[in-house]
Amino acid sequence: MLIYTGGTIGMIENPVTKALEPFDFSHLIDNVPKIKMLNYVIDNISFEPPIDSSDMSPAHWIDITRAIVSNYDAYDGFVVLHGTDTMAYTASALSFMMENMCKPVIITGSQLPIGEVRTDGEENLITAVQIAAAQTADGQPMVQEVAILFENYLWRGNRATKRSADNFNAFKSHNYPELAKIGLGINFHEEAMLRHTHGAIPVKACYSLDTSVMVIDLFPGISARTLRHQLATPGIKGVVLKTYGAGNAPTAEWFIDAIRDAVARGIVVLNVTQCVNGSVMRRYAAGDALVAAGVISGFDMTTEAALTKMMFLFGSGLPVDQVKKQLQVSLRGELTPTPASGRYIVV
Ligand code: ASP
Repeated sequence: MLIYTGGTIGMIENPVTKALEPFDFSHLIDNVPKIKMLNYVIDNISFEPPIDSSDMSPAHWIDITRAIVSNYDAYDGFVVLHGTDTMAYTASALSFMMENMCKPVIITGSQLPIGEVRTDGEENLITAVQIAAAQTADGQPMVQEVAILFENYLWRGNRATKRSADNFNAFKSHNYPELAKIGLGINFHEEAMLRHTHGAIPVKACYSLDTSVMVIDLFPGISARTLRHQLATPGIKGVVLKTYGAGNAPTAEWFIDAIRDAVARGIVVLNVTQCVNGSVMRRYAAGDALVAAGVISGFDMTTEAALTKMMFLFGSGLPVDQVKKQLQVSLRGELTPTPASGRYIVV
C-alpha cells in the first residue's frame, strides 16, 4: 500500500510564482509508468491535500498510523511518500507509535519532483516498493520495521537524519549501519535489522502524542535569562538538551541550578549530543554535573528520535519515573546503551 502525504516527489512548479507546490497522487503515479512492470497489486491512500512536510504534525502521524494499522493484515508492506524536511521525525514517531510491527514501513521521497527529467523520485519510489515487498528465504517480510529509503541506502527510521538539502543521498544514520545498500541490486544487511521473535502478536498502536516537549540547544554565551525562560515554559514536561561533545555543558552554578530546579519541578531533561556521531557518556566533569542535577542520558539517539520518543511516552500516560526509565532503554532499536549504561538510570 502506498500512502502519499506530499513532499517534493509529487510537487510541480507553479507557472506564475515558480514555487514548488504539492500535487495530487494521479500526477505522481502517471510519471512512473515503470511501476506497472513490477506486477504487484498496489493500492493507495492520499492526504487531501498533500502537504509540504514542513506542515507535518503529530495529528498527521496519527493519520498515517491509522492508515497502516487498519490495513495491516491486507498488505505485505507499506510505502509512505513524504517530504524530506521532516521525514526523520515522521520515521521516528511511527516507529514508536506501532509496537510489535512485523511488516515493512518504507518512507521515501525525492530531492527533485517526479516530473523532472533528472528526478531521483522514480528510482526511490520503485526501490521502496520492491523493499516493501521483499521477503526472506523462509517467506517472512525482509524488513520488519520503519525505515527510510533514499538513493543508495535503507536506514532504520529512528536512526536517520536529513543531512543534505541537495545531495541525492540526503539521509544518513550516523550511529547505526545501513539496513541495505542499493546498487545494481538491493543488498540487505539482515544482521542489522530488527527481527521479532514474538510470533503473530497484533500491532499495538498509540494514537496519542503529548507535545509538551521542547529542544534546548546549548551555545557558548547562552544566558541564565534565556535558559530559565525556556525551562519555565508553561506546561512543559520534557526537554531534549542538546549538549556539547560527549554530553558536556557549562559547569557554572547558574546553569546547573536552572537545570536542577527544572528537574525538581518534574521536568524530564534528556541529554543528547550536538555531534552528528557518537554518544553521551560520562567522560568529563562537565557531563557529571548534569547527571548530579538529575539529567538522564539519551546515549546516541538522534534529536528526532529523542523528541518523538518523549511525545510517545508522555502521550502513553506514563508517570515521570517510567518515562525516564523508558527513555534510557532501546524500545525500537533507536539507541545503543554504552557498557556503563546502568550508571545513567536516574529516576
Ligand atoms: N519542502 C519539501 C518537503 O519536505 C522538501 C522535500 O520534499 O524534499 O515537503
